[in-house]
Amino acid sequence: MPDLHSKPPSAPLAQSEAYAAAALGIAVFIACVIGTLSRPVEFLASFWPANALMLGLLLRRPSLGYHRGTWLWGGGAFVSSSLLMGDGMAAAFLLSLANLAGVLAGWVFLKRLDRDTVMLRGTLSALYLLCGCIVSSLGEALLGGMATPYLFGGSMVKAIVMWFTGALICNMLMLPVVLSAPSFEAIRRARPGSWLGYRGLLHLLPLAALVTSEVAAVLLGGPGSLVFGVPALIWCALRYSLFSTALLCLAVGITKLYTASLGLIIYTPDHMLDAVSLRLGITLLSLGPLAVASFQAVRNELLDKLNYAARHDALTGVLGRNTFLEQCAHWLQRLASERRPAAVLMIDLDNFKSVNDTYGHAAGDELLRGFTRLVQQQLGPADLLGRMGGEEFAVLLPNVSHAEAREVAERLCEATRRELFTFSDDLQLHITASIGMVHQNAPPGHERIEQWLKEADYALYEAKGTGRNRVVTRAFAAA
Ligand code: GH3
Ligand code: MG
Ligand code: MG
Repeated sequence: MPDLHSKPPSAPLAQSEAYAAAALGIAVFIACVIGTLSRPVEFLASFWPANALMLGLLLRRPSLGYHRGTWLWGGGAFVSSSLLMGDGMAAAFLLSLANLAGVLAGWVFLKRLDRDTVMLRGTLSALYLLCGCIVSSLGEALLGGMATPYLFGGSMVKAIVMWFTGALICNMLMLPVVLSAPSFEAIRRARPGSWLGYRGLLHLLPLAALVTSEVAAVLLGGPGSLVFGVPALIWCALRYSLFSTALLCLAVGITKLYTASLGLIIYTPDHMLDAVSLRLGITLLSLGPLAVASFQAVRNELLDKLNYAARHDALTGVLGRNTFLEQCAHWLQRLASERRPAAVLMIDLDNFKSVNDTYGHAAGDELLRGFTRLVQQQLGPADLLGRMGGEEFAVLLPNVSHAEAREVAERLCEATRRELFTFSDDLQLHITASIGMVHQNAPPGHERIEQWLKEADYALYEAKGTGRNRVVTRAFAAA
């Protein structure tokens, strides 16, 4: 059993764990009912998603497994749904015990792995997932298989083998879906892409190829038809998200189970080995696409991180010099073509060297971060802020009149002067900034951002030379 004696959580945490355990119980109950309803269709086709759902939820929220209520709710869901669907008392109890044993075995095995690997964000995730599913299915099959002769008669070995392969296929198809499903927060933040037009159609091609392959598998039949969908599934794994790929693997797996049980592909249910072979085949079928999809997810995350690091300043998080120049060039072209005004500010912190010399570099770094936060609060969503180097920053204010730009610059200067920067070790400090500003009503299209910065720099020198802590505006010299 899990270690239920770990440190007790605080009251609000304990309450949220209790709610989560109850939600898990309800979800498992619904999954049990769905699983039980799939039973009568054909014994081969029966699909039992509840165990993988419970295991996946425990892995997604690691603290849940250590909460006694989770196992009580989970066990209660298994027993009550079994009784509701007409099983006897002994069957309900023994089958539920087997289900819990499977979940527990899979959880004990998978929770030891590092989080990225478990959440399918590791290069070997798919293989570890298969191992976890095997362990979980073995745990379930040993108990369930031993109980089967007592409950329904028949051979124990046959029951264990059938139980194991049945559990394995359900775990392998369902667990990736549960593990990769987006959180509520991610769904709320997601911006749906457009499915219209040429790009939308291109995006649908892998899915269309998958449907075509599966239809061909049904029409042509034969043992080879089992793998007809593999190239299309790999294409989907390369193009779609991990969650979408996991869902497609689930859909393909269930379709194959049902078409097999309806006799649409060659399969003789009288022979146990055929059933075992088919189940193992479908289980292993999803391994390749899942490995590709999780590898792709790792790669995409890494590329996103690299891209972010290359474009942003590591200390302050504002745009790095090159990205700022790139984005400004883009903006200036656009503003010139629309004959709209713009302004550029060069900001330099005053006597910053003395901050470093007096309080150390760490305090200087903290001050730079605090200062950029302050500037960001004063800017609008379209304005650009970049770190040009050291304690020098530049701002592009698109579409502003001279008076508006001057007001922003004065506000920045004033806000910096007023702010009491507070550091982690209770140190408090006032600083000031000097700002050079240049504005044009309708920038000509050929003008380069470097020219703007040069002009703003002249203004900044003047601000420094005339006493610091001020804004100096400069008229744009004719090119
Ligand atoms: P002025 O008012 O003339 O601008 O004086 P200043 O001291 O601000 O200017 P100066 O150019 O003499 O010094 C800039 C200092 O900024 C020197 C350097 O130690 C510090 N600096 C540059 N980059 C960083 C950084 O990333 N972190 C920290 N802590 N200090 C930095
Ligand atoms: Mg300075
Ligand atoms: Mg400087």
